[in-house]
Amino acid sequence: MARFLFITLFLFNFALLQAQNKYVIVIHGGAGTILKGSMTQAEEDSIRDKLKEALTAGSNVLKNNGSSLDAVTAAINVMEDSPLFNAGKGAVFNSKGQNEMDAAIMDGKTLMAGSVAGVHHIKNPINLARLVMEKSPHVMMTGDGAEEFARSQGMQMMPESYFYYEKRYEQLLKVKEKERQDSIKGNKTGLNRKVINDYKFGTVGCVALDRSGNLAAGTSTGGMTNKKFGRVGDSPIIGAGTYANNKTCAVSATGYGEYFIRSVVSYDISALMEYKGMKLQQAADFVINKKLKTLGGEGGVIALDKEGNVAMPFNTEGMYRGYIKEDGTIDIEFYK
Ligand code: ASP
Repeated sequence: MARFLFITLFLFNFALLQAQNKYVIVIHGGAGTILKGSMTQAEEDSIRDKLKEALTAGSNVLKNNGSSLDAVTAAINVMEDSPLFNAGKGAVFNSKGQNEMDAAIMDGKTLMAGSVAGVHHIKNPINLARLVMEKSPHVMMTGDGAEEFARSQGMQMMPESYFYYEKRYEQLLKVKEKERQDSIKGNKTGLNRKVINDYKFGTVGCVALDRSGNLAAGTSTGGMTNKKFGRVGDSPIIGAGTYANNKTCAVSATGYGEYFIRSVVSYDISALMEYKGMKLQQAADFVINKKLKTLGGEGGVIALDKEGNVAMPFNTEGMYRGYIKEDGTIDIEFYK
């Protein structure tokens, strides 16, 4: 009888613990001029379906007691393999007409991080960032060195043609044409915010909380259309586009990278929570809608704290975003 009671109690406690240990996964697919009516219903549906597929891939990992790092990787892989987003297969073109990708991942439990910048042949840059974190003594690797490391780890290399996507190439030609016209008029366009905004940013990112209470963050991108060869954005920079710390939160950013680097966006949200005791939503809102906006930076973040609270502020017209919680709540949104 005592034994029966003990086992019942044990099982009850186990079930209680499982229920308490909630999991959450949040993703973004970029921010920019995403306006209602600017897409056909079919286009909207295909983006929504892909976001759902990515969320499901990540939440299946968490449901089965997998780690937040594995969930982040799984969700980002789905979006990297789709031409709909500016990462992996759908990466945008730089000014030389090449795809040059950046990615980063961070483990909130250990504060270990890995990132890569300026890679041209990596199907899933987030996986290479993770290898840098787990299999090298470094945090960040770039260009040829990063690709040599990928080969040494047995990673499959893709020909540049794999990343060629007609629609993205047309975007490059349009941005270049605008740049040409601007230069005739004597205007300095830089990365041309207006034109780039019209083509959306499209970077992908994910933050997750697993059942063991560990946070992780990851971001993967092709950067910005017509960027200079060798330009690195905020996504692979720990603390700018990507950050995770179990003490505070996990953050993945998307938007005009130069401003996110100068505002140290992701770490700033964490620091406001750690040193000022701000709540997640308050900290994320402050950084995106005050600090970044005042500087002229456009974009947004997805952020998640250790209690499973979600914040997704952005100061653009829209941001592809969504989350799944362990109680089955699913939310996918595009607009303000
Ligand atoms: N933040 C990325 C970059 O500047 C672009 C984006 O999020 O769309 O490289």
